[in-house]
Amino acid sequence: MLSERVRAIKPSPTLAMNAKAVAMRRAGVDVISFGVGEPDFETPQHIRQEAVRAMEEGFTRYTAVGGIPELKDAIIEKFKTDNGLEFDRDSVMVSCGGKHVLYNLAQAILDPGDEVIIPAPYWVSYPPIAVLAGAEPVIVPTEARDDFKLSPEALEQAITPRTKLLVLNSPSNPTGVVYTQSELEALAEVVLRHDIFVVSDEIYEKLIFDDQVFFSIAQVSDALKARTFVVNGVSKTYAMTGWRIGYVGGPKEVIAAMTKIQSQSTSNPNSVAQRAAIAALNGPQDSVLEMKRAFDERRSVLVDRLNALDGVVCNRPQGAFYAFADFSHYYRKEKDGHTLDGSTALCEYLLTQARVALVPGIAFGADNFIRFSYATSLETIAQGLDRITEALEALSS
Ligand code: PMP
Ligand code: GLU
Repeated sequence: MLSERVRAIKPSPTLAMNAKAVAMRRAGVDVISFGVGEPDFETPQHIRQEAVRAMEEGFTRYTAVGGIPELKDAIIEKFKTDNGLEFDRDSVMVSCGGKHVLYNLAQAILDPGDEVIIPAPYWVSYPPIAVLAGAEPVIVPTEARDDFKLSPEALEQAITPRTKLLVLNSPSNPTGVVYTQSELEALAEVVLRHDIFVVSDEIYEKLIFDDQVFFSIAQVSDALKARTFVVNGVSKTYAMTGWRIGYVGGPKEVIAAMTKIQSQSTSNPNSVAQRAAIAALNGPQDSVLEMKRAFDERRSVLVDRLNALDGVVCNRPQGAFYAFADFSHYYRKEKDGHTLDGSTALCEYLLTQARVALVPGIAFGADNFIRFSYATSLETIAQGLDRITEALEALSS
């Protein structure tokens, strides 16, 4: 009964883990969750107030398919001031979250047989989004010792005559890695030589630590910008995951095609949420800095605690709110006659024994690792790590 396409994919493992933790909590189990990646802060007050105002004004009808002009203008201004990128209203578009932008883009440019290069560890939804468009994900592994960065040589090697698109994500979910300007320039040189497209997922742009400076590959040159889709959204920056507003800047003809697809699927992003997104982009940005400060502090505590665990190694993430730690030291260990054989088994063990929800690295294409979202309080981090320490110590070697 089901289509081949849908049979080829699995549900989002991050959302599945979230659902599991929520169900356990509902059943009265006190679960600590490092699972889903969503800020634990409230959407800032001025943004919520704008939504209330929009509702009270009766801004409750269908809107322009690709987003209302005022929101498009706010996005154009954001790209200009933050990234030095010029777009006009025909080259930006709003969808129901960054995920939906990626879905629309895949549907608009990919055909069966096309290859999409996805460096691993990757965000869980990139391969299924390519598969749903009939395309083939080509996973290119990267190593912790190389800071999980795709090298120009590895990119070059992965390119074939069927390559259509490269997916870049900086700051990265799950590794927290941030590409520098010169690294992006080196990748851009390969992209231009092979005439492929790039989607640059910049959803964690504002969550960047230490002295890192954010740079978009679209800034490398006009030639590169002409083949790049810059994806961003309000979910992570403004703690607005439930509002479902994401946006993209890119070549006009593809934006028009994506708008056509949206007109035949979701019609438009939620009207009230679009008004809230304008308040987010145009309003005061101090809440962004406050959230970033909190994430930074949690990052230090979490990464230090992870590295203090026997046999665990965790690179210091430079952006986003994830720590990706190598737990493979525990994979051959036993508990009650049962041998843990990978990240899924270890996460299941930690969920049942320690009541801690995590996402197994295999979901991101790297089975040696486990992902921790530190979008949670310092107290929760400390408690969660205490529980994990105890559960790991209970494993026999
Ligand atoms: N890209 C990455 C790397 C993400 O982690 C997420 C998180 N959900 C998204 C895109 C999409 O976010 P949203 O659909 O909420 O805008
Ligand atoms: N992107 C977040 C995560 O990786 C939210 C869940 C999702 O959309 O996959 O946990």
